[in-house]
Amino acid sequence: MEVNYGNTIPISTVDWHGKVSVVLFLRGCPFRCPYCHNHELLFENGRVGISDIEKAIKKSKPFVSSAVLSGGEPLVQRNASIHLADFAKNNDMLVGIHTNGFFPQVMDEMIRKKLVDKFFIDVKAPLDDVSMYAKAIGCDDFSFSLNAENVLENILRSIQLTLNSGVDLELRTTVFRDFIGTIDNVSKISHSIFELTGARDVPYVLQQGIPDNAIVETMHSMLPYTRDEMLELAEAAHEFLDNVYIRSKEKGNEKVNFESS
Ligand code: SF4
Repeated sequence: MEVNYGNTIPISTVDWHGKVSVVLFLRGCPFRCPYCHNHELLFENGRVGISDIEKAIKKSKPFVSSAVLSGGEPLVQRNASIHLADFAKNNDMLVGIHTNGFFPQVMDEMIRKKLVDKFFIDVKAPLDDVSMYAKAIGCDDFSFSLNAENVLENILRSIQLTLNSGVDLELRTTVFRDFIGTIDNVSKISHSIFELTGARDVPYVLQQGIPDNAIVETMHSMLPYTRDEMLELAEAAHEFLDNVYIRSKEKGNEKVNFESS
């Protein structure tokens, strides 16, 4: 089997908090988020034999406990994702998937086959706001055929089926000044997560967006949020959610302790 493949990070401590992982970046994605910093993975092809990726996993195995499929959107390549997750499982590794949530049917298949231990699902905008989601995935900037209403339906299904499956879940929003990531936006996103899940303790991560490699060039001059500003955003999320993390260049992954604030 050939895989449209980007690259491998042999040892990473940041792609699955608390675990050391080999990270596999698959190419392709149906979205065009204006801030996408991995957009080389969207527009270019790079075919490799799947055995080369297996070799990379084997090489990392002595040093890591898990394999993370990332991208791009890994689940756009269903067969490759299933094969690689199965290979990692057969090598006694945990499997995590970074996904935009657009492929609940593949997620369901992987859950049923017991091929995944954790889904990391993007929540790019409030889950009850179709026009904001359309903006977040690029419908305003790029003309493509996805219907944002259908996109949102799929994402809701992906989150619900993960919750019902018992597979670990992390929801995450990448925040940008002057795009999606104001205090009001974060408050609405967190509220929509609470409304969907009915749980205050679903793990929720605010990721510091770094816009200098965004697809849309006008974003390049945007200043990333500082860590202190990220903490303010976390406070907004805390109105609805208790298990909130921030991820910044300054300090990496931090669980926010609201008791001391
Ligand atoms: S940021 Fe958006 S466009 Fe880029 S890989 Fe993720 S979902 Fe796809």
